[in-house]
Amino acid sequence: MSELYEMLKPHLDKTYALNVALTMLSFDNSTAAPKNAIENTSKAIGLLSGEHYNALINEDVKRLLKELSTEQEQAFLSFEEKAIVKKLNKEFKQTAAIPPEEFQAFQILLAKAYPIWESAKNKNDYASFAPTLEEIIRYSKKFASYNQEEDQKLYDVQLDDYEEGFNMEILDGFFSKLRSALVPLVHKVNEKENAIQTEFLSQDYEIDKQKNFCRFLAEYIGFDFNRGVIAESEHPFTTELHNHDVRITNHFQKSQPDFSIFSVIHESGHALYEQGIDDAITMTPIGQGTSMGMHESQSRFYENNLGRSLPFWTPIYSRLQELFPKQLETVSLEQFYRAVNHAHSSLIRTEADELTYPFHIMIRYEIEKLIFEGNIPASELPAIWNQKYQEYLGVCPTTDTEGILQDMHWALGSFGYFPSYALGSAIAAQIYHHLKTVMPLDTYLEEGNLKPIQAYLNEHIHRFGGAKNTQELLKDMTGEPFNPDYYISYLTDKYTALYDL
Ligand code: ZN
Repeated sequence: MSELYEMLKPHLDKTYALNVALTMLSFDNSTAAPKNAIENTSKAIGLLSGEHYNALINEDVKRLLKELSTEQEQAFLSFEEKAIVKKLNKEFKQTAAIPPEEFQAFQILLAKAYPIWESAKNKNDYASFAPTLEEIIRYSKKFASYNQEEDQKLYDVQLDDYEEGFNMEILDGFFSKLRSALVPLVHKVNEKENAIQTEFLSQDYEIDKQKNFCRFLAEYIGFDFNRGVIAESEHPFTTELHNHDVRITNHFQKSQPDFSIFSVIHESGHALYEQGIDDAITMTPIGQGTSMGMHESQSRFYENNLGRSLPFWTPIYSRLQELFPKQLETVSLEQFYRAVNHAHSSLIRTEADELTYPFHIMIRYEIEKLIFEGNIPASELPAIWNQKYQEYLGVCPTTDTEGILQDMHWALGSFGYFPSYALGSAIAAQIYHHLKTVMPLDTYLEEGNLKPIQAYLNEHIHRFGGAKNTQELLKDMTGEPFNPDYYISYLTDKYTALYDL
């Protein structure tokens, strides 16, 4: 037992407790709080955020971390404690590198930027947002330069923030494979627009029945209702306080039942990760999924690789038909399977299908690279955006609302975040391929037996939380590091068969 670590623990516990309070408030704001609550509540949030920051970033913690990082002290630490010290050192270094007055000025800028972006989006007026975006880019690049290592590219600093170990070299390789293998496939699928019937999915599906079915689905894939709840919000999301309190949300639309169905499978995938974190680390700084990309791999593995497969629906489709006889009586399992996999190029990322989705991300990645490595002015970005949509997806936005203004990420200063979404799908495909080599995956799905799948993911991914990073988890589980080839062949095989190409 390390005495120094014992001294660090009260600081961690306080930081954690404040984080729980902030998470609860944020969850409440998105689900149950009345519309006018936010202005007053945000004052409490501001105060608690300050306390949260000070609980970790202070001289005591700085000294303890320095001493705990010496070789001598490391020998007294467990594997998990070492991972916690490593993670805190990184956070501490990043935060301490930015002068407090610049950090504060940036926070004020971001607070103003969000409504400016929102109004620009509503009015299709990119010009009114461009100067603010320019300013956010200026700050983001400056902050990245403070954390830049020798020989490190500026955009790589941003990327490392979201996915440790995934730099431009890896991502360029990933996206160039996607481009050469899948752009032609997307164009071929677009030509067969009417090959798959989807009309039956736009009839009215009673919302109460949708809710019942979604609850069943969550439980079916392994969501533990004694340690989690489902609420409703405008956009579905998952949040967690610890492994005994994981909350997912869903959103219901009468004439789009597939939205709530695949959202609940997606969010349950996130939730299984959080409910599966080991008891020993759940309330520590490594008590969550290791990264955004790995998290997204779990949700997409359940949503797409399993949830949009024929074996997944084989034992449960009749249940959905019984709930909605009027809408689905004459629709076969095969027709349903094809409809929920229908693909077609579109303009909006969040509405994109499994095949075209990664291109929405590739476009954002290429533009972020231009911003960080190429000094392109904000005013020129919409034209580049539109040209890339035309080239990769064969569609061109007629307004910036449907184009460059659609996502809030850049208004929040989140550069380097987008690639994790595509990485998530690619990691999911690698895991899916691996699972098929170690278990009779399709047979389990056809039997409605999803327990062994969850148990395997828990054993090799979930329980570790943030103690291992994505590359370490992949290597230890599959024997090789991240490899996008599985994703390319998964999508190629699936869509070639679906569209009879
Ligand atoms: Zn997700």
